[in-house]
Amino acid sequence: MTATILDGKAFAARLRQRIAGDVERLRADGITPGLAVVLVGEDPASAVYVRNKGRQTREVGMKSVEHRLDAGVAQDALLTLIGELNADASIHGILVQLPLPGHIDSAAVLDAIDPAKDVDGFHVLNVGRLATGQKAMVPCTPLGCLMMLRDHHGSLSGMEAVVVGRSNIVGKPMAQLLLGDDCTVTVAHSRTRDLTGVVRRADIVVAAVGRPGMVQGDWIKPGATVIDVGINRVDAGEGKTRLVGDVDFDGAVRVAGAITPVPGGVGPMTIACLLANTLTACCRAHGLPEPE
Ligand code: NDP
Repeated sequence: MTATILDGKAFAARLRQRIAGDVERLRADGITPGLAVVLVGEDPASAVYVRNKGRQTREVGMKSVEHRLDAGVAQDALLTLIGELNADASIHGILVQLPLPGHIDSAAVLDAIDPAKDVDGFHVLNVGRLATGQKAMVPCTPLGCLMMLRDHHGSLSGMEAVVVGRSNIVGKPMAQLLLGDDCTVTVAHSRTRDLTGVVRRADIVVAAVGRPGMVQGDWIKPGATVIDVGINRVDAGEGKTRLVGDVDFDGAVRVAGAITPVPGGVGPMTIACLLANTLTACCRAHGLPEPE
């Protein structure tokens, strides 16, 4: 048996196409959704993410604004910028690229963003809304995972889901979303006893650990759906590197019912969901019906 490959790249392309259509209709009514991305410092991976976000924002017809600040920027100056973006009616989404330099209090910065413009869904108000089942801005990576799961399964009701990882960015919001879709959810982490046994009972495994290939093929229940969030750069020999996930793909693909590859799985969905959140924020700001 070989698992169905869940093609996040193709799914994301379809989602962006739908968003572009919605943006076109909004623009015909004189409304252009706007996304501002704030990058602090010179982290090369962050710079690549920000560049891709800007490009894809423009490609769907939205306004894209980038603010690049020096790594040594004072927290107050960053908070002032966020205040300006909060007040700017042409900006519907604000994203501060993480990680921030050590001298900056990330939580204070994230909580300074207007929750209605918090397209990353990290503001404590949105976290609370998600946890209490209210209308929230939902973090992009878990939202992308949920979309792929719903697309593949239809209803997730009653399924046994195991999320490996409990970060605020991926693991915890993923667990909330799966709970919201009526899964029975277990959140595993570095102190979990018998991780293998826990993963083995899952109909849905979401791996968000940051350890290359940690989840082995023989941990997977036959037929389970495996969502690999991990993005790890490893040595590929001859001075080259390659990206791998948190799941041993070659082992898991023989056992699972469906699996996301790395690259080309969850990764492309993340930016597409950022655009979807920006569109949603724009529609809410203008009192318009939200996209599906
Ligand atoms: P964090 O480092 O914030 O969290 C990792 C989690 O994994 C922690 O909860 C940690 O447990 C747990 N963990 C670590 N080691 C083990 C272990 N041996 N057994 C069980 N659990 C373990 O990472 P993120 O959530 O930010 O990211 C996870 C992965 O997802 C990374 O590879 C990252 O690059 C990728 N990622 C991909 C995105 C995408 O767009 N596709 C977006 C965001 C992240 P504990 O809490 O106990 O320390």
